[in-house]
Amino acid sequence: MSLDSKPAYSGGCQCGAVRFRVEGAMKSVSVCHCRMCQKAFGAFYAPLATPVEGVTWTRGEPKRFRSSSIALRGFCAECGTPLTFETPNSVALAIGAFDDPGEVAPTAQWGIEAKIGYVDDLPDLPAHRTEDDPEVAADLPGLRSFQHPDHDTDDWPQRPEGLG
Ligand SMILES: [Zn+2]
Ligand SMILES: [Zn+2]
Repeated sequence: MSLDSKPAYSGGCQCGAVRFRVEGAMKSVSVCHCRMCQKAFGAFYAPLATPVEGVTWTRGEPKRFRSSSIALRGFCAECGTPLTFETPNSVALAIGAFDDPGEVAPTAQWGIEAKIGYVDDLPDLPAHRTEDDPEVAADLPGLRSFQHPDHDTDDWPQRPEGLG
């Protein structure tokens, strides 16, 4: 929440070269199963939130690919994180790019004519924690993350924590 108690959100790409801020409510929050969203996100579907009052880019700005005559797809030119779906009337943000994606819950699905059949079966698959994989568990103690933290920072590029 901001000082005047409007909801406020922040987020950005994986490397931190692009950061955004949103104030106020969301006009819509949804996932889109259309083939263009699958391709643009490299994923089964695209999770997208459209703020009523638009987006402020607080560090850098996305590079954009014109995916159709009515839409642009924004992404970080440094690390490739998908960030936006933009039309002449609105900018939708990738929910996974928010610092707290759990705050932005979808309320609808679109493009279901292109939905991949097994998507509905995902909740029934065997489920594991990261450390349940012995090979990964062995690597975890020495792992250093170069992902930008889930909050705004004063400097970029950042000196990864743990690097001398
Ligand atoms: Zn980036
Ligand atoms: Zn779509």
